[in-house]
Amino acid sequence: MTTKLDQNTIRAKIAKLSLPTLAFIDGKDSPSSDGNTQCPINPANGRPLAQVAACTHQDVDRAIQAARRAFEQGCWSRLHPSDRKKVMLKFVDLVEKHSTELALMDSLSAGKPISDTIGIDLPDTVACLQWHAELVDKLYDKTAPTGLSNPCMIVREPIGVVGLIVPWNFPVQMAAWKLGPALAAGNSVVLKPASQTPFSAIRLAQLAWQAGLPPGVFNVIPGEGSTVGKAICCHMDVDMVAFTGSTEIGRQLLRYSAHSNLKRVILELGGKSPQIVFADAPDLDLVAQHVANAAFWNMGENCSCGSRLIVQANVKDELLQRVIKQVRSWPVGDPLDPKTRLGPLITSAHMYKVLDYITAGTQEGARCLLGGNQILQDTGGWFVEATIFDQVQNHMRIAREEIFGPVLSIMTFDTEDQAIRLANDTNYGLAASLYTTDISRANRVARALRAGTVSVNCYSEGDVTTPFGGFKESGLFGRDKSIYAHLQYTELKTIWMQLL
Ligand code: NAP
Repeated sequence: MTTKLDQNTIRAKIAKLSLPTLAFIDGKDSPSSDGNTQCPINPANGRPLAQVAACTHQDVDRAIQAARRAFEQGCWSRLHPSDRKKVMLKFVDLVEKHSTELALMDSLSAGKPISDTIGIDLPDTVACLQWHAELVDKLYDKTAPTGLSNPCMIVREPIGVVGLIVPWNFPVQMAAWKLGPALAAGNSVVLKPASQTPFSAIRLAQLAWQAGLPPGVFNVIPGEGSTVGKAICCHMDVDMVAFTGSTEIGRQLLRYSAHSNLKRVILELGGKSPQIVFADAPDLDLVAQHVANAAFWNMGENCSCGSRLIVQANVKDELLQRVIKQVRSWPVGDPLDPKTRLGPLITSAHMYKVLDYITAGTQEGARCLLGGNQILQDTGGWFVEATIFDQVQNHMRIAREEIFGPVLSIMTFDTEDQAIRLANDTNYGLAASLYTTDISRANRVARALRAGTVSVNCYSEGDVTTPFGGFKESGLFGRDKSIYAHLQYTELKTIWMQLL
């Protein structure tokens, strides 16, 4: 895969890029049943990108029927594991070959810097799909210790028809985190991308079809969350929904399940992740790089964004100087420029929400040290400066609510216990990081933090082999990535035999 592209090559590729605009149902491109469309907007310049099918309940029904048919026929669900693996690996090859195209789709529609989509999102997407593909013929079921006359197998079977609903901040990557294990386990899927970023998901389905996935196994239905997303979640013939998105919509999904067929619901939700820096942290320059990256990577539109910096009081000033220097060095602007590290926010509405939080921070008494404003208005895009607030109290809105933008709040502590208390004093529990050279403290604090992923002396979400998901209001019932993700797309069955 090309990892370094210059701006001219990118422009040339964009000129040739064809954005897929139809749903993908039962192996075919398909307009919405009523012909309606919706139009994702390029957040870097406010211009429309393409008219995309805005699907209806009827389209959802059709996709679910196709998925059910494929599942019952067994063309995928009962395919020999080694054959399923072969098709998945062909799919992986195609995704890898089309990585630049998929990266451009996500950068254009989500405003993500191209160096991130090409350098991080797509390699991670390929690695995730490949890891799950390779797992298909390496899993064993179990027998139970039931004595000689009652052999008993405990087997895992695919669940059936699985709805996948994903957000706009990592469009192709979030789809892959769910598709990889769901398809590898033998399910049929109906994927709903976010309204702003449907292109890479539709393209993935076309590539899977090209790789030999049978019709009906992988369907993509673009459209409004309140129509398409809700119809998938309320459908009586969907066995499971895996969702990544906001905590607010996650709550609704539980209601939909309760009021329909009690389908399994897996929720990956928001966060307000702490970064704790102790005075004995190794190399404050390096820590500052990690802190800036955790807070501002992907414009802070990142579920595991390290939006609360909790720093030991006696190193605060030294660290802050370095963080500010780091952030000032980040080029802001056109996401298609390979040098850019901060692009626009996803929509104008979201930008105003972030600006409102910045106003609230000042009104509640925090001190704005850096940024705080909308910038680059002449582009027609929705850019906000990287913003840092000092003297934040943990009761303030900027410390408690997920802003989902480039806003970092600074708080201080004196003792380890205070740091842990502050870090855990949140409704969320997705990720946390801590910096210290004391290995015993690292272990103690990592175990005390209530978060799904804790990184020590770095900012990391782990890799494809490690589970990712949240405690508290950051998630429910499951994990993305790793063997744990695979298992959640299966049902456990006990087969008890009486030997005659
Ligand atoms: P969102 O508003 O909750 O939307 C997520 C998805 O749900 C979109 O596809 C959306 O469709 C759909 N949706 C909206 N209303 C729905 C409904 N009533 N029924 C079913 N589906 C519905 O979240 P977002 O703004 O796209 O994404 C940001 C959130 O995602 C943040 O809170 C972030 O922390 C979280 N996130 C979590 C993780 C994780 O791994 N924990 C990873 C990434 C992001 P439309 O686009 O058509 O509205």
